[in-house]
Amino acid sequence: MKKISQRKRIVVKVGTSTLTHSTGMINIRKLEHLVKVLSDLKNSGKEVLLVTSGAIGVGCGKLGINTRPCDTPSKQAVAAIGQCELMYFYDKKFAEYNHTVAQVLLTKDIVQDDIRKTNCQNTFVKLLSLGVIPIINENDTISVEEIEFGDNDTLSAVVATLVDADFLVILSDIDGLFDKNPSLYPDAKLIPKVNAIDDYIISLADGSGSKHGTGGMITKIHAAQIANSAKIDMAIINGKDPDILYDLFEDKEVGTLFLSNE
Ligand code: GLU
Repeated sequence: MKKISQRKRIVVKVGTSTLTHSTGMINIRKLEHLVKVLSDLKNSGKEVLLVTSGAIGVGCGKLGINTRPCDTPSKQAVAAIGQCELMYFYDKKFAEYNHTVAQVLLTKDIVQDDIRKTNCQNTFVKLLSLGVIPIINENDTISVEEIEFGDNDTLSAVVATLVDADFLVILSDIDGLFDKNPSLYPDAKLIPKVNAIDDYIISLADGSGSKHGTGGMITKIHAAQIANSAKIDMAIINGKDPDILYDLFEDKEVGTLFLSNE
C-alpha cells in the first residue's frame, strides 16, 4: 500500500459542525486555520479539493435564525445566502496564501448522466492543472432532493471518484469510528483501521447529526463504501484542530482509516 504521505490528489471534506459555531456563524479561528493547513499541503505539492458544507448553517447564522428551517423554499433561500458568505470567506483567506479557488456546485445527476459527468470531470481536471483549489458543495438552492436527502459525506466520496483521487479525508467533530458511542460510554475505543465495511462496522454508526448539519457516522461509512469500492482509501479524523491533517499526511496514526485493500 502506498504511504499516505505519498498520496497526491486529495479530497478533504469539512462539515457544518466543524466550520461554524453553534450560532451558525463561521468559526473564524477554525476555518482560517483549515485554510492555512490546506494551503500548506498544496504548497508541498499536493492537489487539494475541498468539499464544504455550511451553506445552510452559515445562512442561518447570517440571518440570525437559530434553527435550521424545515420548509424547502426557506432552506434553499438560506443556502443561497450562506454559500455566498462561505465562498467570500474561502476566496479571501486562500488568496492570503496566494491560492486561487473555484466554486463548483453539484447536483446528483452528474453521476447519472454520462455527458454531465464527463463535463464535470473535465472541469476538475482543468482546474487542477491550473493549480486551482476547487471548493465543492451541493447546489442546495436548486436541488430539492439534495436538501432533503443529500449529504456532503456522500458528495465528497462522489467527488473523490470523479477526480480519481488518491485519498479522501472527512473532518468530523469526533475522533473517528468508535466501537460504541463515546458520548454514552467513556470506555469506547477508537477503531484505527477498517479493512472491510461489514454489518458490524455499519452497526457502529448511529446516524447522529448536529443542529445545522445533516451528516452523521452512517453517511461517513456510506462515503467510505463509495470511496473504497473505487479503490480510494479514506480517513475520518477530528477537524477541531486542522493541524491533524499534517499528522495524517506524515503517516502518523490518527482517526479511522478505511482501506480499500486494492
Ligand atoms: N449542502 C449542505 C450545506 O451546505 C450541507 C449538507 C451536509 O451537511 O452534509 O449546508
